Amino acid sequence: MTFVLVGAGASSQNQIMKPLNSEEKRVILDKGTEAPFTGRFYRHKAEGTYVCRQCGAPLYRSSDKFDSGCGWPSFDDEIPGAVKRSPDPDGLRTEISCARCGGHLGHVFIGERLTPKNTRHCVNSLSLDFVPAGRSAAAEPETAADVSPQTDTAIFAGGCFWGVEYMLGKCPGVRSVESGYTGGKTRNPTYEEVCSHKTGHAEAVRVVFDPRQVSYEELARLFFEIHDPTQLNRQGPDVGDQYRSEIFYRTPEQRRVAERLIAELRTRGYRVVTRVTPATDFWPAENYHQDYYERKGTQPYCHAYTKRF
Ligand SMILES: [Zn+2]
Repeated sequence: MTFVLVGAGASSQNQIMKPLNSEEKRVILDKGTEAPFTGRFYRHKAEGTYVCRQCGAPLYRSSDKFDSGCGWPSFDDEIPGAVKRSPDPDGLRTEISCARCGGHLGHVFIGERLTPKNTRHCVNSLSLDFVPAGRSAAAEPETAADVSPQTDTAIFAGGCFWGVEYMLGKCPGVRSVESGYTGGKTRNPTYEEVCSHKTGHAEAVRVVFDPRQVSYEELARLFFEIHDPTQLNRQGPDVGDQYRSEIFYRTPEQRRVAERLIAELRTRGYRVVTRVTPATDFWPAENYHQDYYERKGTQPYCHAYTKRF
């Protein structure tokens, strides 16, 4: 059986995911770190609740904020259940992320004796928004005015990312498509490393779309029609596991849609090998891989539309 399901995925709570600018993406999605002493919440002292920049989940109370002198907002406690801890790939630190959307927050340090709770959540300001006391955390945070309309994100792997990016980028309602690597073991892989087959990454695309114009299901259907989901670890002339067919779902609903479409294709006789896997780190590819066909002014050799549904 080639249809692989892994893990239970993210929370089933409905999330309104805010669009992120490039600096926020670098921190929240790609686990970057803002420069110390530069964040807007470093010396911020108002009473209220710090919420996830991406999904709005309440994370920290101002009463738990303290000045650690480290250059980033510091908290010695979190709102119960709001923050997920995981071992940082550096093998030393403990990463913290939003328990609801998985957005990267920073790191947590224990045993520094800075406060009686002996804990320091060291959080990027870019990962946070602030809701002043007296307003519901469910209300729009302070920065709502700067935020453009609601978007959602889908991650697909279907062979050479140049072609998938090109085809999905033509779909109405798609705001942006970015080529990158995901589903592998190492951080920030290069194209050469991915092609070496040692990292396990797939060439993939991250699609930001407006759900009022195009649904995740419509995008997933299109994904199955612009690549051949019956080819195992290859796509046309491109052979290798980095060209595998895989849907990286970000919510339980995305997973259900992917599984349902695969089942539908199978009833139509397609021996679908597409894997359905929880989304993990997405590493944007080198600039020369972005908008490849647009820049070359040519059409994909690797992808074309075929009606399958
Ligand atoms: Zn979040």
